[in-house]
Amino acid sequence: MFSHLPHLHTGSDLHLYRAEILTLQKGDILGHEFMGEVDRVGSSVKSIRPGQRVVVSFQIACGKCSFCKQKLSSMCDRTSSSSLQEYMYGRRDAGFFGYSHFTGGFAGGQAEYVRVPFGEVNCLVVPDGVKDEQALYLSDVLPTSYHAVVDTGVKKGEVVGVWVRLG
Ligand SMILES: [Zn+2]
Repeated sequence: MFSHLPHLHTGSDLHLYRAEILTLQKGDILGHEFMGEVDRVGSSVKSIRPGQRVVVSFQIACGKCSFCKQKLSSMCDRTSSSSLQEYMYGRRDAGFFGYSHFTGGFAGGQAEYVRVPFGEVNCLVVPDGVKDEQALYLSDVLPTSYHAVVDTGVKKGEVVGVWVRLG
């Protein structure tokens, strides 16, 4: 499956720029969260069709392994072949788009086209009437911040402060 985009430049890209994530290689295509219009689909893809707009998250899930069945898709153990990650962590996480060979070596979305493995699992179709700028944040920024709010136990009506370290 191929899409073309807009994409986000995020703080996660800085981890690569600063060499905090290992095995970025010359010629690797960055961009681990993006959206675009479907250009083509593989023969086994039935629920996604060319012309649809989709949001794609950073992780690549198979949808069938034990982790995916528990909705732990970032821990999918079928989409990354990183032996370095397995050596360092004792296991492999899911493959990530555009995030070095440490996470599987998949090309990212900062390109005209990107291949999305397991397209029916990893593409969220954007409904008509939802603007690109509204949907794009579903790729990572919004779920990450939502997860942080849930994890901290913030309740409706409470006041919170957020400190962000820049640079
Ligand atoms: Zn899986």
